[in-house]
Amino acid sequence: MPHDAVRALKRAPLARPSTEAHGGVRRRTATRADGLVQTGDGGVTAFHDNGGRILHHPRVILMFWGAAWTNPATNPSQAAFTGAIGNLISGPWGTQLSQYRGIGPMALEKTVTIASSDPPATFTDPEIQAMIEAQINAGVVPAPANGVDRVYCVLMPTGHSSGDTPYVGQHQFFDFNGARAYWAWITNDGTLTGGNSIPKVISHELSEAFSDPDLGSGILVDVGSDKNEEIGDVCNNTWTTVNGAAQEAYWSEADNRCVIPIFHSFPPVSGNPVLIQSRFGKQGNFELVSPLAAGGLAHFWRNDDNTFLPWSGPIFFGGSLGAVDAVTMIESNFSSPGNLELVCRKGSQLDFFWRDSGPAFHWNGPFPIENGAAGNPVLIQSRFGTKGNFEMVVPSATGGLVHYWRNNDIPSLPWSGPTAFGGSLRKVNAVTMIESNFSSPGNLELVCRVGQQLYFFWRDSGPAFHWNGPFPLQNGVAGDPVLIQSRFGTKGNFEMVVPSVNGGLIHFWRNNDSPALPWSGPTFFGGSLGAVAEVTMIESNFGHPGNLEVVCRVGQQLYFFWRDSGPAFHWNGPFLLQSTVW
Ligand SMILES: [Zn+2]
Repeated sequence: MPHDAVRALKRAPLARPSTEAHGGVRRRTATRADGLVQTGDGGVTAFHDNGGRILHHPRVILMFWGAAWTNPATNPSQAAFTGAIGNLISGPWGTQLSQYRGIGPMALEKTVTIASSDPPATFTDPEIQAMIEAQINAGVVPAPANGVDRVYCVLMPTGHSSGDTPYVGQHQFFDFNGARAYWAWITNDGTLTGGNSIPKVISHELSEAFSDPDLGSGILVDVGSDKNEEIGDVCNNTWTTVNGAAQEAYWSEADNRCVIPIFHSFPPVSGNPVLIQSRFGKQGNFELVSPLAAGGLAHFWRNDDNTFLPWSGPIFFGGSLGAVDAVTMIESNFSSPGNLELVCRKGSQLDFFWRDSGPAFHWNGPFPIENGAAGNPVLIQSRFGTKGNFEMVVPSATGGLVHYWRNNDIPSLPWSGPTAFGGSLRKVNAVTMIESNFSSPGNLELVCRVGQQLYFFWRDSGPAFHWNGPFPLQNGVAGDPVLIQSRFGTKGNFEMVVPSVNGGLIHFWRNNDSPALPWSGPTFFGGSLGAVAEVTMIESNFGHPGNLEVVCRVGQQLYFFWRDSGPAFHWNGPFLLQSTVW
C-alpha cells in the first residue's frame, strides 16, 4: 500500500501513527508504556491472513554498518545492541507470533561489522541493498535461500537517516540469484530505550518481517478504512523497557490487543514438584503442580502448541491447607480429555483434589483421604479393573510403606487399604511408582529412598498381589527418586532420576530387553545447581521415541532440563522456570 499523505491529513488526530508504506516505522516521540502492556487495542477492526509467505523459523543477521561501530567510544556499543537484540530473539517477546501459522522460535544467526565503509549521512534503499549484496558476494554473510527464513538487518550509527522516507526503520526485500532476500534498516537515536532506539525499532521491523515479509500478502489488519496494515504499525505507540532495552508491542489477534510478552517469576516453591504431559491441547500440554513456600499449591502449565513453549500460571488452590509437604498428580480417564487428580500430604494427613476437564477448570478439594503418612505419596491410574483403579503408595509415619487403591468401577469410588510392606526398612523418606508392561495387566514397580540408599520393590499382577523386595539399588542419593518406563528399547526401559548427595542429579536406566534386567548409569547432570531438593520426570512426545523432561527444585526455585531422544542423549539445562505474561 503506497504512502497516502492526503488521507493522513484528513484523519488527524490519531492515537497511533498515521499512514505509512508497509515496512516503515515513523519517527516517534510518543508516550511510552512501562511494565506489562494492559491496553493498546490498536483500533483494529478486521484481521486478514492473506496466505502469502511468512517466516516460520526466522534467522536474523545483524549488519552493523560504519567505522563508528569499531570505535570504543561509541555508546551504546555494538555489543550492547547485540545483547539487547539477542535477548529479544531468545526471550519470550515473540510468543504471540506463534499464533500466525506457527512462527517461531527464532535465532540470531550471525553478527557482522562493516567497518570498511560508512553509510551516507542521508542514505537510500538502493545504497543499503548494494551494500548487502556486496557482503553476500564477499561471503561475509550467507546468501539468501528460499528454504531459509533469513532477515538481513542493517544497523546504523547515530546521525544517519533515510533520504527516501521520514521513517526510522523499514523492512523490504529483493531477489538475489533466484532467492528472495528479506532485509531491514534501522536508524540509531543513541539510546537503548528511546522511542526511536535500535531495540525498539528492530522489534517492530522483525514482527512485521516475520509475519508479512513480502509486503502485503501475509498477516495484516484493518483500522477502519485504513486497510491492510502490518502488525507492528498498529501498535507503534506502545513499548516498554525489558532487561534494559526497548521492546515494542505487536498486534495479537488472539488477544485482540497489542502485546509485549515478558517473563514473570514463579512464586517461591517448597516440597516436591510433579510434572505430567496431559491430553489438553493438540500436542499435549505440560502440567506442573508444586507446593508453595507461602502455603497451598500452585498449578502451572506449558502450552506445547505454541512454538515458544510458554509456561502460564500460577493458578492457586488448596490455600486452606497452609503449608503442604508433598504432592503427586495424574491425568485420569474421567471426563474428557481427562481430569487432573492430585493427592497431597500435609503433616501426616493425605488430601485429595481433582480438576475438571473444562470449561470451569476448577480445582475441587481438599477431601481428606487418610492419616499416618510421611514422605511423598505417589498416585497412578492402573489397568486393574474396568475403568482403571487408582493406586497410591506412601511412606508410613510408623515405618515402611503402605498401599491404597481406589475402586473406580464403583460409583462411590471407595479407597481400600492400607496394605503395609517394606517394614524392615523402617523410616522411608521418599517413593516413586509405575505400572509396567511386565505381566498382565501390569506389575507395580517401585523405588524408595531410605537415607542415602535406594531400594526396589515390585508387585505381581495377581492373584498373589505380593510386594517383592526390598532389593538394594544405588547409594549416595537424596531427595525423591522418579521412575518411569520409557519407549526406549523394545520392551521399554526403566528410567530413573534422583538427586545426588553431592549435588546435581543422577540418571539410571534399566535395560528391559536384557533378561538380567541390568541397571546402567549413573549419568550426572545439573551439577552447577548444587544441592537439588526434589525432582519429577516424564517422557514427552517431543522427539522420537520421546525426550525425557525433568523439573527439579533448588531452594525455592524450579529448574527444567530435557534430554534428547538420541543419538546425543544430552541433558540440556538447567533452565529457570518462569511464566510468560503479556
Ligand atoms: Zn511497520
